[in-house]
Amino acid sequence: MRQDGHVIHIDASEGEGGGQVLRTALALSMVTGQPVLLENIRARRPKPGLMRQHLTCVGAAQAVSGAQVDGATPGGQTLRFTPGPVRGGDYHCSVGTAGSVMLVLQTVWPALLLADTPARLTLQGGTHNPMAPSFHFVEQAYAPLVRRLGAAATLQLRRCGFYPGGGGEVHAELHPAGPEGLQPFDLTARGPLIGRHAECLVPGVRRSVAERELGVLRDQLGWAHDHRAIPVTRQNEGPGNALLATLHHAHVTEVFCSIGEKSRSAETVGEDVVRQVQHYLGSNAALGPHLADQWALPLGLAVWRSGRAARYTCTEVSLHASTNFQTIGRFLPVQFEARPLPDGQAMQVEVRPTGDNAA
Ligand code: ATP
Repeated sequence: MRQDGHVIHIDASEGEGGGQVLRTALALSMVTGQPVLLENIRARRPKPGLMRQHLTCVGAAQAVSGAQVDGATPGGQTLRFTPGPVRGGDYHCSVGTAGSVMLVLQTVWPALLLADTPARLTLQGGTHNPMAPSFHFVEQAYAPLVRRLGAAATLQLRRCGFYPGGGGEVHAELHPAGPEGLQPFDLTARGPLIGRHAECLVPGVRRSVAERELGVLRDQLGWAHDHRAIPVTRQNEGPGNALLATLHHAHVTEVFCSIGEKSRSAETVGEDVVRQVQHYLGSNAALGPHLADQWALPLGLAVWRSGRAARYTCTEVSLHASTNFQTIGRFLPVQFEARPLPDGQAMQVEVRPTGDNAA
């Protein structure tokens, strides 16, 4: 990666090399007003370049910032993005496929934290996708942390959307940070467990699938009295299946999800969630692996704006996370440092300001 004048050049094939590099770069280009040139986008993926879901992220970013964009074509591997001022207001974004709308939301949310007026987004596409945050994860795990930084937000799931049909709809009302600005905070302990529950979404799918998936959680986690099967059967939803396990701790909520597909048995879906829950409970970290990579961006933003350092602990620092730390560091004068804690049960990430306080 290199910087040339005001344009930030990013080799998007570095590190994890996936769509997250693009989304983080778009988000922080809008936040800082710095144009970005991305090359080798998703170059090592089986289908390289910009897919429909990524193009929707570019389109959403263009809409909220009035950006000039070159290279936003299917399969394109080079994109130049020059943002204008970010504006709140009403926006409608449709992926057009089952691509994740939650990733579209996470692309524009950081910039909207610093806008002058609130934004209301209507997002159509996938709401529960493999390899992406589910609606429930964003609403119950990610959004509460962003609110704690000092910006109100409400998210509503209007319709579930699954691969391959899509057709999901999410409404988001996102407010800019209040008069205090974004205030970073430490998140080094999850606190005592105050609640847990499992949900199974089975719109258009036999109810017995939910019973088998929840049965795995009952047998392997002992969650006998915490089950809540929610078969969603309204028209236009699904067919699809998502199994979700939610752990409410005093300082953080984590949501673990697995998506059912024709080729995966209900037991495999159940065991996938059990594995994720056990992995999290086997550590004393505040954040699980996905929240750890996603939290880096809003926290980095708050550290930059306030000029104050903050820390969090997580079960691991994945390649997604370390790549995100690097990309964030290209735009914001902040530095991420990750190290294992002496008890060997968690990693600690510290985010420090390295330059002038922007606020
Ligand atoms: P590519 O197709 O190039 O791999 P992508 O655009 O689909 O990329 P990634 O770059 O892989 O996306 O980023 C996916 C994001 O989704 C990451 O932030 C990751 O933490 C998050 N994610 C994946 N699975 C889950 C999950 N089960 N719960 C919450 N977040 C998840």
